[in-house]
Amino acid sequence: MFIFNTISETQQYLKAQQRAGKTIGFVPTMGALHAGHISLIERAKTENDLAVCSIFVNPTQFNNPDDLKKYPRTLERDCEMLLPMGCDIVFAPSAEEMYPSLPQLKMDFGTLETVMEGKFRPGHFNGVGIVVSKLFNIVKPDKAYFGLKDLQQVAVIRRMVQELSFDLEIIPCLTLRETDGLAMSSRNTRLSSEARALAPQIYKALNLAKEKLQNGVSVIEMQAAVNEYFAHNPEFERADFRMEYFEAADFDTLLPIEAKIADGKTALCIAAFLGGVRLIDNIVF
Ligand code: AMP
Repeated sequence: MFIFNTISETQQYLKAQQRAGKTIGFVPTMGALHAGHISLIERAKTENDLAVCSIFVNPTQFNNPDDLKKYPRTLERDCEMLLPMGCDIVFAPSAEEMYPSLPQLKMDFGTLETVMEGKFRPGHFNGVGIVVSKLFNIVKPDKAYFGLKDLQQVAVIRRMVQELSFDLEIIPCLTLRETDGLAMSSRNTRLSSEARALAPQIYKALNLAKEKLQNGVSVIEMQAAVNEYFAHNPEFERADFRMEYFEAADFDTLLPIEAKIADGKTALCIAAFLGGVRLIDNIVF
């Protein structure tokens, strides 16, 4: 496994591999890897000749400087996890390497970013769009793997690839969860033991909401039931739980829906702070 820190050595190596007919599967990450990331790497390796993983905590997608500062950075451990998975190349650039000067280009994803993450994290998807475009141009993958844990990110990247004619395929991958249901996330390591014990309730609330919609309850009634669910448990207050949004959306457009729509097209998405740590999760049914 090669670990490259510069764009030029990465491009030079990968260009030669592509000339030799090798296909490239790419997994962009911000590091602090867990089994969810590894499942993407495994899939990339199975479906391509080479698996490339980028590790870069992208400053331009953080709208909260404290979140950026506290984001876990564990490059050495990450590489130790990637090696036995058959990862071929780790691209781990510095911020200066990626941004010798701050990009002036702005990406606007229209209605895809006026809701949920886009609404609560202004500028986030501009940062994501720019960094992922740069990474695609550096790695030139045949396939790029993204987790559905970040449902809105998948929609944004798909639109970007389609509208800018990137010559690659986006592969959405299922969310990996801990045995108690909590979606794996690099941020979970920042949860206090009290917050960690409560965190699986987020997935439970998603399932409760799903059941309600499947039984014909409207979205407004469902949201009221979810608010009740959290309000009636004083432990949430003690753990400083604060819901940012709980939305029912169309899986393709991400626009709000009023009741369950076609099978596989209804997405329930949540963002909540638990003891100061921002967690997101979703289910699609
Ligand atoms: P991140 O490092 O958080 O930017 O994540 C890198 C990639 O891993 C993104 O495509 C995420 O959606 C994906 N990912 C994060 N958590 C999970 C998970 N629990 N299961 C599957 N994929 C995930």
